[in-house]
Amino acid sequence: MSGNDVREASGTPAAAVAERLRITEIFHSIQGEADAIGWRTVFVRLTGCPLRCVWCDTEYSFYGGNWHAIDDILAEVASHGARHVCVTGGEPLAQKRCLILLRKLCDAGYEVSLETSGALDVSMVDPRVRKVMDLKAPDSGESQRNLWANLDHLLPHDQIKIVIASRADYEWARAMLAEHALTERCMVLFSPVHGAVEPRDLAEWIIADKLDVRFQLQLHKLLWNDAAGR
Ligand code: SF4
Repeated sequence: MSGNDVREASGTPAAAVAERLRITEIFHSIQGEADAIGWRTVFVRLTGCPLRCVWCDTEYSFYGGNWHAIDDILAEVASHGARHVCVTGGEPLAQKRCLILLRKLCDAGYEVSLETSGALDVSMVDPRVRKVMDLKAPDSGESQRNLWANLDHLLPHDQIKIVIASRADYEWARAMLAEHALTERCMVLFSPVHGAVEPRDLAEWIIADKLDVRFQLQLHKLLWNDAAGR
């Protein structure tokens, strides 16, 4: 094989192409949700998502973005000097090479979390990563995409997140808790959709039903009103 054979038409070495990801943004902020809430964290937001949740708050990550070599992503993450890194999207697992990024971040010694929709297979994710996996309730419009087999790949340090937009969503989530023994698998988070459910109502439903779930409000919405890059 000649030297040219291992290059793409652009002249980029094939090995480097194999380790690139399309990235919407890399930013340094405070983790706004899940078990690592409050920690200073570097977020790596991968571009693209095959779902279209009605209440999605990161639609700007569906398209565009720029290609970055995984080693360049690691260098940018390191420049912020944070112990926690969150790989998010979009749906980060829609890019297969996300698995390489996750492994390299773990190898570098970071506390790594992955925010994923629950619609794509999580079985190959490095076990050192804390998965924060959604289960999509009916009002998301994407409930049929839940990949229930993923539940068997959750570890005790992972988290299941259910975003709730209505009383009907809450009742669905409560039924799923029982049907799939969710709280025996890992921590379960219930979070209200901003502007759709009163946070106090959700809190009171959880108390009334004595559910062993963790209520959460998104800290970054309170701090920065969900501005991009925050
Ligand atoms: S899975 Fe996440 S990024 Fe994709 S549409 Fe739903 S909320 Fe938005």
